[in-house]
Amino acid sequence: MSARTASIQSSVLFGIDGHPVRVEAHIANGLPAFNIVGLPDAACREARDRVKAAMTTAGLGFPDTRVTVNLAPSNLRKHGGGLDLAIAIALMRANGTVPEESTEDTAFIGELGLNGTLRRVDGILSLVDALSARRVVVPRSAAAEAMLAGRHEVRCASSLGEVVAALRADEPWPDPPTADDVGPGEDVPDLADVQGQGMGRYAIEVSAAGGHNLLLTGPPGTGKTLLARRLPGLLPRLTQDEALETTRVHSAAGLRLPPGGLVSTPPFRAPHHGASAAALIGGGSGWVRPGEISCAHNGVLFLDEMAEFTPSVLDGLRQPLEEGAVRIARAHGSVRLPARFLLVGAMNPCPCGKGGAPGSCRCSEWSRLRYFRRLSGPLLDRFDLRVQVERAKADELMSAETGEPSAAVAERVAQARAIAAERGIRCNAEIPPALIPRVVDPEPPARALLESTLRSGSLSGRGLHRVQRVARTLADLEGVEGRVQEHHVSLALQLRLEPEQLEAA
Ligand SMILES: [Zn+2]
Repeated sequence: MSARTASIQSSVLFGIDGHPVRVEAHIANGLPAFNIVGLPDAACREARDRVKAAMTTAGLGFPDTRVTVNLAPSNLRKHGGGLDLAIAIALMRANGTVPEESTEDTAFIGELGLNGTLRRVDGILSLVDALSARRVVVPRSAAAEAMLAGRHEVRCASSLGEVVAALRADEPWPDPPTADDVGPGEDVPDLADVQGQGMGRYAIEVSAAGGHNLLLTGPPGTGKTLLARRLPGLLPRLTQDEALETTRVHSAAGLRLPPGGLVSTPPFRAPHHGASAAALIGGGSGWVRPGEISCAHNGVLFLDEMAEFTPSVLDGLRQPLEEGAVRIARAHGSVRLPARFLLVGAMNPCPCGKGGAPGSCRCSEWSRLRYFRRLSGPLLDRFDLRVQVERAKADELMSAETGEPSAAVAERVAQARAIAAERGIRCNAEIPPALIPRVVDPEPPARALLESTLRSGSLSGRGLHRVQRVARTLADLEGVEGRVQEHHVSLALQLRLEPEQLEAA
């Protein structure tokens, strides 16, 4: 028997991007052996066990001679089990189990179980998008996501046996799952369920309208989390491009995708305060996994109990907040991941959480001060809105009246965003400093108020920009198209309490 070879297309993930890989199988005379070369990581190398077991279980046999699989290009590290199917098909092409023409212009993606089942892997959308082949075969549960790439004829199967039967034309390709198979989508909670909370409700409306980062302080049980969770429901639905980009991140991070595969509503991510830098910002050992800030791309990142996060981890937020992306250094080149999110922080007024009520708080002056200072000045500065949330009053809680529903608020938010779009920006938080004088253009009394606040020292130069952007959003929400008025500035200042004011409350 002379050596037989075959080559099959597939792809691997790096960061959130797919890279094409050629799987070359070589079956030669010699003692039984199975080697995979071409920079596979440990999980990828274990394909030997999975492929062999899957082929044997499916009754497809396995070559009892010398088998070598080369993964090209050899300088690209191959992570995980996504090449399993391509390896199995390459072997079966080489030994004649599947006909050559059946794999023409076709790529294969998927991990094999020992029993021959075909499993989805992370990053299907990016993996498929990287392929030049006209046709792609993926696990059945990943079919909807694979179709989002939009350029390929997508075939799917639940097992290796099904793939081989279809390639041999013994059986038709299985149908892709229908919407009924994938279950209902997730509901976004509605503002109508929030009673009272006038200030809190207003703050999240302004935050959504202008894309302003928001810090909520107040004792536990005042509804800070309740409010933050309703923010995604006020934001505009994602555009097609935003939806695809967010889906690529979620898929690469291994998050569950909604029915149909496309993430079309702004995501809401709420990592625990124990989160590591890798979990929050991205990275990890070996390959690069998107962090929570990337999973929140085009949506909301909510950090509850913000003062409990490790300060150095929080400081990792500053660069992404500035650039809308995070760059993670790696031995073989850095990876850039998208991370443009609305940041909402929540914290108690002091370590014991009871805050300013006389006699109830047991915290010393010193421990209260230190608690707040856990957020660095530069990070605190990134919050355009810093508001105090009060406990809802008894009569508000007892009231049978429901609050204004999210849909009504979302409509005002959409109008404000449409005005921002006319300025050539996505939202007012992104007004470049150079444009502020023209876009905000405060009336004389409004200008006088800004000047006196600056002179009093309670507003920094950078803070001045932020207050003006918020004032513009307040005017836009009111439908005031022209110059920003004094009451807009006054309210913007009230919506940006200084740390001392927040501590004292
Ligand atoms: Zn206290």
